[in-house]
Amino acid sequence: MTAGLPRSFRHIQVLAKQHANTITLGQLMRNTRSDPVSLIRQGQWLRGQLPIRFARRLDEFLQLPYVVVHNKNIKQVLDIYVDTFESVSDFPSILTEKDEAEFAGLVQAQLQKHQAVARLIAEGYREVRMAYPHFRLDSFLDRLFITRISVRILMENYIRMRTPQEGYIGVVQKDMSPHRIIQELSQEILRLTEAIYGVAPEIEFRGNMSCTLDYIPRHVQFMCQELLKNAVRATTERHKPRDRQNFGFASEPVMPKVVVELQKGDVHVIIKISDQGGGVPKKVQDEAWQYGWTTADNDHEDEEDPYSGCTWRKELAGYGFGLPLTRLHAQYFGGDVFMQALPGHGTDMYLLLNHLKQGSPSTEEDDPSTA
Ligand code: ADP
Ligand code: MG
Repeated sequence: MTAGLPRSFRHIQVLAKQHANTITLGQLMRNTRSDPVSLIRQGQWLRGQLPIRFARRLDEFLQLPYVVVHNKNIKQVLDIYVDTFESVSDFPSILTEKDEAEFAGLVQAQLQKHQAVARLIAEGYREVRMAYPHFRLDSFLDRLFITRISVRILMENYIRMRTPQEGYIGVVQKDMSPHRIIQELSQEILRLTEAIYGVAPEIEFRGNMSCTLDYIPRHVQFMCQELLKNAVRATTERHKPRDRQNFGFASEPVMPKVVVELQKGDVHVIIKISDQGGGVPKKVQDEAWQYGWTTADNDHEDEEDPYSGCTWRKELAGYGFGLPLTRLHAQYFGGDVFMQALPGHGTDMYLLLNHLKQGSPSTEEDDPSTA
């Protein structure tokens, strides 16, 4: 047995078969009480639910082929899952305010440990597929990331309920402005693009910029960031001046803008991100949604040129996780994301976010295999 594997496989297998309750965005928002009794009840509920969700994923981890589980990055994720599973399962009953405060400390510490999971999985999957290029784990990864989305919402929401913040109900921000969020993250993406390529396109906003919805800002940030990075990278790769020496002269061709358009329909807030970065060839439009599918050059490492630094480049693109993860996040609360590519010209990405509070069909087919 490998060090780091859980003590009780049977315990995992029994729990993995138990029913995990699902929760919707609407339910999250109706749950507004932060008094000690409510928090104790929330803590008890979470203490019961988290091990079921982690057990399901551990059960699947343990069935993965040897080459996957023994990749050092994937192994690290497995260790984190085992640690969360064991420490939450071992936590005694939550009966008093003091117990609850201790449990909150544990949840917070575990949340911290899980920060790195997405990056570790992406790096580990890349390494495994470098050795075995035809190896695919798409449905395993879908289930892993759906659970990751759901447990992080539950854990973060619980932590946030303990220190209520104006304008928020737990993790949900009321009247959140997508325009403001996208504006903020654009700055960072453009800075990164300029650091890598020396140039970057402008980002223009159109449509109903004042539209708002109740949503989890971290999710909108993530999805818009992934779509914008793709649009900005495609545009820059296609239109950057061929000869960097000439950059800055009047004769230099203008780079087409990336356009972000916001609209609010009866069910969805629609965020359309359009670029003229050459589009995606028809034959790979489906593949682009698979985990690990990328056209980014991963071997680009030229010590002489600070702009080609591998780590920076990977911040922009390179793991091939942006599109599949954006789709999971969008669908999680009853939204979606579509690609309309005009090969040879550009791409329009449509991100649809459900703004219905009551009717959010929402979350979580926590485990699609049992849905
Ligand atoms: P990554 O950006 O790490 O490569 P993604 O999942 O975000 O992974 O995208 C996968 C691939 O889809 C990209 O490498 C690129 O080839 C293609 N792609 C995505 N969005 C666009 C776009 N707006 N224009 C052109 N190609 C795109
Ligand atoms: Mg990307």
